[in-house]
Formats: sequence, C-alpha cells, structure tokens
Amino acid sequence: ARSELVNAERLAAIGKMAAHVTHEIRNPLSSIGLNLELLEEEVATSDNKEASQLVVAIKAEVERLSRIAEQYLSISRRPRPRLERERVEDLARELVAFVQPELDRGNVTSRVEADDDLPDARLDESQFRQALLNLVRNAREAMSKGGELVVSIRKADGGGIDLAVDDTGSGVPEEMRASIFDPFFTTKQRGTGLGLAVTRDIVEAHGGTIRCLGREGGGTRFLIHLPAAGATEPGAKAVEDEELVA
Ligand code: ADP
Ligand code: MG
Repeated sequence: ARSELVNAERLAAIGKMAAHVTHEIRNPLSSIGLNLELLEEEVATSDNKEASQLVVAIKAEVERLSRIAEQYLSISRRPRPRLERERVEDLARELVAFVQPELDRGNVTSRVEADDDLPDARLDESQFRQALLNLVRNAREAMSKGGELVVSIRKADGGGIDLAVDDTGSGVPEEMRASIFDPFFTTKQRGTGLGLAVTRDIVEAHGGTIRCLGREGGGTRFLIHLPAAGATEPGAKAVEDEELVA
C-alpha cells in the first residue's frame, strides 16, 4: 500500500507540472486541427497531389500531439474513481470492438474469452477503459508484423477477477519488467512512457494489482487482478463511502 501511495504521488506531481504546459498547448493544437481540416478540403478540390500528401503528414503529427496532450491531462486531472458495479466482460468486449479498426490496420486479430458466472467488479467505467486501452495499444504496437490479441477474464483463486491481455508481439525482456511501469520509461522512438504508469495508477486506485509476465513462445501477458464487487479492499471502499456522503 505504501508503494502505491508513492506511485500515485509521483504521478500526481508530474501531472501538475505537465498540466500547465499541456493546457497551453491544447487550444492552439485544436485550432490547428480545425484549420487543417479546412485546408484538407481545399487541397482535395485543387488536384495537387504533393500538397495533399503534406496535409496527411501534418495531420498524423497533430493527432500524435493531441494524444500526448491527452495522456498528460489524464494523469493531472484524473479524479478519484467513481465505482459502480460493472460486468468486466462487457467492458472488455466493448473496448476491443472500439479498437478493432486500429487492430485490423496492423493485421492483429482479437479474441475475448470469459468464464461463465463471473463476479461483477466495482469500477469507474471510463478510467478502466483508459487502463485497458493503454494495454491494448501497447500490444498492437508490439506486434508490428501482425499477431493475435487475447483478452481473457477469469474467476481468480480466492475471489475477484483476473483479467489478462495477451499478445504475440516482441515481448518484454525479463530485466526490463520492473521498469516498464515507471513514468517516462519507453523503448519507443515516439513513446511517452506514460501509458503503463497511468494504467497501474488506475488499477491500484481500484484496489487491484497489475503484473507483466512473459509468454512461452514469445509475446507478453499483462495480468490485472481486481477484487470482486462484494469484497472491495478497504481503501477503495472508503472512497466509495465518501462519495455517497458527498
Ligand atoms: P510507451 O508505449 O509510450 O512506450 P508505456 O508506458 O505504454 O509507454 O510502455 C512502456 C514500455 O513498455 C514500452 O516502451 C515497451 O518497451 C514496453 N511494453 C509495454 N507493453 C508492451 C507489450 N505488450 N509488448 C512489448 N513491450 C511492451
Ligand atoms: Mg504505451
């Protein structure tokens, strides 16, 4: 619990510093995006191939910047989770369906498997979606030549839910597994190193844990354990009770 607190405080401090800059960047960025859309229409009717290629390239970079800004804002502004009883399987299926077009483009097939009679969990739907999305995007990025993504949801031994995100990608070297959750740790040329830090922060705020495991034959498994709805850990329960009062 102590290390959870340190993680959360560290992320919050980074978030505060980043929030100001990000805020200043976000407005001009969205106006660039809007103007770019207008320019795109102009260029489309002008029959100028070179210009439209340039617009496409600029658009991709603007989207990348927006995503970075979004990630920084998500660490600085994340409120305490508002826990509600949810079916984890439904959330996972919705999320995978949402990213399927992205996965298709990367030749990644996907599957969601779930035990029968799974217990519900107490979740903040939008935060938990963000946590899963970060894992799924990493999985896709690790499978640059295509592969298979499997999300499985099982009843955990001793209660609660184990949710695994498996990929057939490049894998994480064993000695790196302790570092990948650190803020700003990235091996990607264009990575922010914030995805897993945010995901761990969200999972821990739900009273859960997350681990990175290797898979036989290559690839990576991220395993999230969540307490069952009836048995939420004292920390998360307290938040919930406070909100009921407020
Ligand atoms: P980013 O994706 O911006 O690099 P993350 O915090 O999401 O930041 O991930 C940190 C690092 O962990 C990645 O740069 C990569 O080296 C490693 N990693 C995360 N997920 C996977 C995965 N599914 N397969 C292989 N490596 C991964
Ligand atoms: Mg990432």
